[in-house]
Amino acid sequence: MLNFHKAPSPHFNERALPLDSIILHYTDMPTADEALAWLCHPTSQVSAHYLIDEAGKTYHLVEDEKRAWHAGESFWQDCTDINSCSLGIELSNPGHSHGYQPFPEAQIDALLQLCEQLSARWGIPKNRILGHSDIAPRRKQDPGHLFPWEVLSREGLGLWPTSSDAYSELTPCDLIAGSRKTSQWIPRSSRGTSSFIEEGLTTIGYETVSLPHTIRAFKRHFQPHQGDDRADGETHLLIQGLLDSLKMHI
Ligand SMILES: [Zn+2]
Repeated sequence: MLNFHKAPSPHFNERALPLDSIILHYTDMPTADEALAWLCHPTSQVSAHYLIDEAGKTYHLVEDEKRAWHAGESFWQDCTDINSCSLGIELSNPGHSHGYQPFPEAQIDALLQLCEQLSARWGIPKNRILGHSDIAPRRKQDPGHLFPWEVLSREGLGLWPTSSDAYSELTPCDLIAGSRKTSQWIPRSSRGTSSFIEEGLTTIGYETVSLPHTIRAFKRHFQPHQGDDRADGETHLLIQGLLDSLKMHI
């Protein structure tokens, strides 16, 4: 059981929706102390439910029952009030503003425990653990390409694709290298490639107001070895794998 350090933030109000998601952030500030001071500052107008520092020390800022102010303008599966239906967890990291760093193991270990506890306590589906950039792809890039979604997935946490039929034909090297075979992969659907990408991302939950932004956010999460906004064969496979894992069809 994690030991929480109370650090109350005044920035919250009442939820308007049932709690069903966890949103992961990085603080984008030089130190955890500065982030903590800002999240609790009387005038900041921002908060999160939890902050985890690099050593795994976990602060509890807003009661889970309350609506903390961490997501801002955001979208997932037609919901635009993500603050109302989510818990926000901030991971201390200098972020892209102050020298983005890998997330230390102690910090991720604490996060895994916290996500397990919160998911069990509130009945949050484990595939509703998302990144800020997933729900705000035009505005946000946190927790960023160094965040270890694959480590979470090994514990059954986070949105992650299951192996699809298409996957089974490929070796891990194909997926990692984005080989000629994957780049020539054709979606199961008879739709055109770009239509499959857009419909797939929309069905999974993403907003697709600006498809390049959404593809970049998707790749940050699922293809972190790439940093561009072009869908390739691997992107197709991952979208199909996610649709399969969510038991969704397009
Ligand atoms: Zn954020």
